[in-house]
Amino acid sequence: MPYTIWVKCHDEVLRAEREALAGKVIGEFSLPTGARLGCFLDDIDWERFKNDHGRSNRGIHVPTTNVPQCPNLLEFNWPDYVARAITFPDELGLDEYVCDNVIYLHGSTCLSRVGLTMTLAHELQHFLQHANHWQEWAWNSIIVRLTEEEFMGTRIYPWDLPIEREARIVSKQVAEKICGAQPVELYVDERVRKTVDQNDRSDWQFVQTLRDSRPYELANENRELIQGLRAYGSSLKAILQEFKNDPCFNHHPRCKDLNLADFFADDA
Ligand SMILES: [Zn+2]
Repeated sequence: MPYTIWVKCHDEVLRAEREALAGKVIGEFSLPTGARLGCFLDDIDWERFKNDHGRSNRGIHVPTTNVPQCPNLLEFNWPDYVARAITFPDELGLDEYVCDNVIYLHGSTCLSRVGLTMTLAHELQHFLQHANHWQEWAWNSIIVRLTEEEFMGTRIYPWDLPIEREARIVSKQVAEKICGAQPVELYVDERVRKTVDQNDRSDWQFVQTLRDSRPYELANENRELIQGLRAYGSSLKAILQEFKNDPCFNHHPRCKDLNLADFFADDA
């Protein structure tokens, strides 16, 4: 089986419902052959992820790797019960991941069918981007490493980043298909009203406006965005070098092909 779903929930009926819904959401995506995906649906909010990734965080996608120099298992602050589910001890007694991508959803995300569906679909789209559009995925990881001051200077909002925009478009479409357009509209309206901060409100207001069902041109949108960041070329160049030195990324066969000169031709 290319994926495993773990649902932490004391109510057996609810647990079965959430597992079935997650399976239905996953069924909307063509998973890459050979991929080993693990989805963990929690029944509490894991505060450390809220602290690390922002209060508005509802779930995450983490590409995992058993590359020895990459310490992301230890550093990632998984809840113990998630770490136990997604790893096994190898012959040296070291933890190895049982899957190459993990999606985690907080408990509050799973309280509503639409919430679970939208966030799971959003993270699944990141999983597909990582598998099928690794370079665009990687450029996103590079851009978000600009300093806070630089990032604010770009006037790019998180939902303007192409992989984020695509994930929002796809997640809304999948949720409308599975849960119906009206429940999705009500859920998004409620998120706008019960927002945790101004950025989160603007993010959900952006989702409110999404109506287009045309396929999103991820590579083109990514190219356009980076070409607009010429003023940050020297910072991006330094971050790219750090990225290429990072064992968590440089084991990927396409890492060596990342080149800013592809976007800023005269800087080659
Ligand atoms: Zn995202």
